[in-house]
Amino acid sequence: MKAQVAIERDNGEIATFIGFRIQHDSARGPMKGGLRYHPEVDEDEVLALATLMTWKTAVVNIPYGGAKGGISVNTKDLSPGELERVTRKFIDEIHDMIGPDKDIPAPDMGTNAQVMAWIMNQYQKYHGFNPACVTGKPVELHGSEGREEATGRGVAILTKAMLERLKRDVSETTIALQGFGNVGSFASQFLHDMGANIVGVTDATGGVWNSEGLDIPALIQYSRDKGSVAGFAEGKALTNEELLCSKVDVLIPAALGGVLTDENAEHVQAKFIVEAANNPTTPQADEIFQKREIIVLPDILANAGGVTASYFEWVQNRQHFKWELARVRKELDQILQAGLEKVWKIAEDKKVSLRTAAYLLGIGRVGRATVMGGI
Ligand code: NAD
Repeated sequence: MKAQVAIERDNGEIATFIGFRIQHDSARGPMKGGLRYHPEVDEDEVLALATLMTWKTAVVNIPYGGAKGGISVNTKDLSPGELERVTRKFIDEIHDMIGPDKDIPAPDMGTNAQVMAWIMNQYQKYHGFNPACVTGKPVELHGSEGREEATGRGVAILTKAMLERLKRDVSETTIALQGFGNVGSFASQFLHDMGANIVGVTDATGGVWNSEGLDIPALIQYSRDKGSVAGFAEGKALTNEELLCSKVDVLIPAALGGVLTDENAEHVQAKFIVEAANNPTTPQADEIFQKREIIVLPDILANAGGVTASYFEWVQNRQHFKWELARVRKELDQILQAGLEKVWKIAEDKKVSLRTAAYLLGIGRVGRATVMGGI
């Protein structure tokens, strides 16, 4: 669905934005997927991301199909009031197609717990109280402990587990990470806690490099205060292109899609790539990485921690029962480790890449559910 989102700006002018909600497949359950606010959002991108959600929920075996939404808007150009009006207006357009048993939005780039709270409230005006209609809500408003950190935590858990399977120790690796928003900042926090040496971080406005290892808690505080990692004193400036091709063990793209291309893939020096972002690698770059024997942990597994914790939030909302953080973390860990185990085994048995193995697992599960459900 394509929607015109018209709002009155604070100065009285009318502004119009284009929004999308695309539902890809519901064979395994209600459709699930984030809502992205970014100037580059378009219909093709939203469809590609909705499709990824179908395979991702199947890879980690949670009872959902796939969907995605987005609005083509730069949130930096909006006041908080304008952001709220854009969100509520979009829900006015799509409220009938979402819902706890139909399609459940969640945060993605440019959206956060506050936006999810507005969605819950606007949905409620049409359909009554039902917090399970959206996940990623504030903990104070029917959100789940551990949801905000979950995607980044999952990236860290899976990076460590993947390295262990290859007889490597996360505490002896160097890491470069692109994107320092929700996913990137939590991933770096947990990897730092595991002893990894994060030497490079970039975001939309610049980056920082320190071969001795960045002080991640200080960088998180700095980026919260300044709105960017650029200018952090304990390191030298770094561009996004330099980061992607830097000499590190592990590269973690955690921002936009399509950043690893046939133009830079030959120059990537990392031995492992963990796709925290959705679709960061173009098919051409993926082929180059395979030829160069660079191991890629694919997005549909690497960043599945977010949708898994969203599933826990939805379960808690439906049971009107709150889990403690320790339970969320334990169940998240189990589901992600089980996903990695299955994918790893398929990759070994069939001698294919982890991405092909993850697709075989996900598409196989969706296919069997479709056939068993019948028409
Ligand atoms: P966010 O909005 O919190 O942060 C995005 C980060 O990317 C920011 O640091 C921003 O500065 C940076 N960025 C934006 N444009 C950039 C550019 N051109 N070059 C370099 N950096 C740039 O978003 P997020 O929620 O952390 O999402 C990041 C990625 O992870 C996206 O691909 C998203 O689809 C994926 N993802 C997010 C979740 C989730 O739970 N939030 C779950 C699964 C996947």
